[in-house]
Amino acid sequence: MSATAATTPHHSHRCWAQIDLAALERNLRLIRASLPAHMRYVAVVKADAYGHGLHHAAARMMHSGADLFAVANVTEAAQLRELGPGWPILVLSPLLPAEDHLLCELDLAATVSTPEEVARFEAVGQRFGRRIKVHLKIDTGMGRLGVWHAQAPALCAQIQRAPHLALAGLYTHFASPDDDPAFTAEQRRNFLDALTRCEGQVGPLRDALFIHADNSAGLGTLPEESRPFNAVRIGLLQFGILPAPHALLTQVRTEPVFSFHTRIGIVKHLPAGTTISYGRSHRLTRDTRVAVLCAGYGDGIPRALSNRGQVLIDGQRCPILGRVTMDQTIVDVSALGEVRSGDEVVLIGTQGGAQIDIGEFSRWADTIPWEILCSITKRVPRLYQSPLGI
Ligand SMILES: *Cc1c(COP(=O)(O)O)cnc(C)c1O
Repeated sequence: MSATAATTPHHSHRCWAQIDLAALERNLRLIRASLPAHMRYVAVVKADAYGHGLHHAAARMMHSGADLFAVANVTEAAQLRELGPGWPILVLSPLLPAEDHLLCELDLAATVSTPEEVARFEAVGQRFGRRIKVHLKIDTGMGRLGVWHAQAPALCAQIQRAPHLALAGLYTHFASPDDDPAFTAEQRRNFLDALTRCEGQVGPLRDALFIHADNSAGLGTLPEESRPFNAVRIGLLQFGILPAPHALLTQVRTEPVFSFHTRIGIVKHLPAGTTISYGRSHRLTRDTRVAVLCAGYGDGIPRALSNRGQVLIDGQRCPILGRVTMDQTIVDVSALGEVRSGDEVVLIGTQGGAQIDIGEFSRWADTIPWEILCSITKRVPRLYQSPLGI
């Protein structure tokens, strides 16, 4: 496991992320409670649980009502399997042929999109004398993974004929659930249609299998339209982050799990006319007190925040001056009272009554919260509040 011993920031932490596992648990329970009772919960924990730390996050979710875990690849699946046997794990991305044997060795469920994959996994199952669980993915308009919906029944029948495969689920993925309800509805119809035609080929599927489509943004249209589906596949929302500022799911009041912090390195006065940082992209228009922070893009503050982002010090917003550099970022603290080396700075989170949420932070960088969470670097220790003692 990574360097996670400390649960509270120490004065010597230069830049750290705080992960509130109790909030994660409350979020998961809240999302579950908002769904129809029969709906199963697929916890998406790819990319190190969205940068929160796979072991800690997944261990907590095992106690909070997750039914199945989804990861991107077999490396992540192997890390998750270390937490214990038995938990169902679905690999969302295609496996490389050289990885196929791990389906048996680690007891994983694979995503299937092509007849070639069916043949490969059947061969591996035969070699190990085991039945490999697969989820058939249906492309209803994402244009990425999955069998094109018109061809789904044939592939479904091929899976059902394979003696060493066990169909465990059917799923699809929405392309624009947060901003194109009409296209999302079309994808739902395509999926339902494909399901019905699959059942025409192989018999009833819906009760026995995981049937899943909705991710965080898709939840906005539950429950009416998705009544035939019996599982949801949630990533971002369980970490307390809405998929879009206008998110539909505002009645589910999740809390942020992740916050991002640094400290002031030095404070100094600079005269009007001085230019700040590489490229001299900011010139001081007046005598200014600046603080040089102990974090930069080497920690995950996007360079796009140069002359654009803000940070919280002493509960107040301070603008970033000039370019963000690898190890330091310079901010204007002229408006504050006395601040000094070692003072805490909030990059994402709350301080006093002020807040910078990850949505605002992402928009400064012209990106999305998912990418920001994946960009907090290894240099940044994750400090866990209320861990389970693993
Ligand atoms: C990442 C991912 C999800 C989770 O999406 P969120 O928007 O984070 O809830 C669901 N399904 C698939 C296939 C994914 O890759």
